[in-house]
Amino acid sequence: SCANRAIVYGSNGNPASTLFALTFPTLPPPLPNTANIRFLLSPINPADINVIEGVYPSKPVPCDLPGHPRAAQAPLYVGGNEGLAEVIETGEGVTELKTGDWVVMTKAQLGTWTSARNAHVQDLLKVPSDLGEAAAATITVNPPTAYNMLHDYVKLDKGDWIVQNGANSAVGQAVIQIAAARGWQTLNCIRNRDDAQSMKAQLRDLGATQVATYDELSDKGFKERVKSWTGGKSIKLGLNCVGGRVTTSMTRLLGQDAHLVSYGAMSKEPLSLPTSLFIFKNLTCHGFWQSRWYQEKSLQERKQLTEALFGLMREGKLRSPEHEVLVIE
Ligand code: NDP
Repeated sequence: SCANRAIVYGSNGNPASTLFALTFPTLPPPLPNTANIRFLLSPINPADINVIEGVYPSKPVPCDLPGHPRAAQAPLYVGGNEGLAEVIETGEGVTELKTGDWVVMTKAQLGTWTSARNAHVQDLLKVPSDLGEAAAATITVNPPTAYNMLHDYVKLDKGDWIVQNGANSAVGQAVIQIAAARGWQTLNCIRNRDDAQSMKAQLRDLGATQVATYDELSDKGFKERVKSWTGGKSIKLGLNCVGGRVTTSMTRLLGQDAHLVSYGAMSKEPLSLPTSLFIFKNLTCHGFWQSRWYQEKSLQERKQLTEALFGLMREGKLRSPEHEVLVIE
């Protein structure tokens, strides 16, 4: 059959200059307890860029591209952490997977921007194939982050409020939908843009209760507008995707005893918070990292989380994020 292609790099740096495409031969038959897999879709997440730059705490696993001379000279890394693949051949002793099964990676940073690879079966998790490729390919990073941040910090009742920034991000879109499915209300903040109205409509269509731009957030009268939306009910949870001054303004909207959970730093700006929020409002701040969650939890808990997310998808309550499929020739 035809040769394989991978998007690889040998040293850290700007992805635009360090990444290159490489052709390697058909994989040899899989060793015992491993499987040869063919990738169907591999996402590009913001963290993948940081891994290539060398500024992300998780380091890539050097790849073994069988039969490629370049790989024998110095370690090469295949980009990508997340991906959906199909099992093409299993090695001796593999009972939990068979040819044709859909799988995602449970081990971080294996390298997924490749047409095929070999993997240990313990690093693969079987996923259902009835929800579409995009849903399955993006199941390990963004929806779990949204789900865990909504469930692990504050006990929310029906009608309770959450505020988030970066609301149009993939994580933000999942937050909106999971919250809506639970009957929780969301105040969603986005960057100003030419088509802010259509972006707002799009997010409301996903289940957002209210959407505002960061410009509106910094308006003097914004707190009063929020009060009119919430009926004075206090906001219990804030989710921070961007850091910087927009997060300072957002945190001021939180009520007594609220929790702020930071998971992204898209603005690359540090986060500064008024001390009074800690003293008088008893604010608690956390950092969430899905990789840490996976390290701390059992495989059973991981499977339950994935099942809960696929369940929401089957009920039509959680759609795949807006995406564009690129085919690399
Ligand atoms: P997406 O690529 O889907 O969205 C990126 C978001 O960031 C958009 O809302 C974009 O807004 C916004 N953004 C980009 N640049 C800036 C900027 N300079 N200032 C303000 N906002 C900006 O991202 P994901 O949903 O995949 O990830 C979002 C963040 O969450 C990333 O930082 C990612 O690393 C992090 N993350 C963290 C996890 C964890 O476990 N802690 C897990 C998953 C994701 P716009 O449309 O206006 O450009």
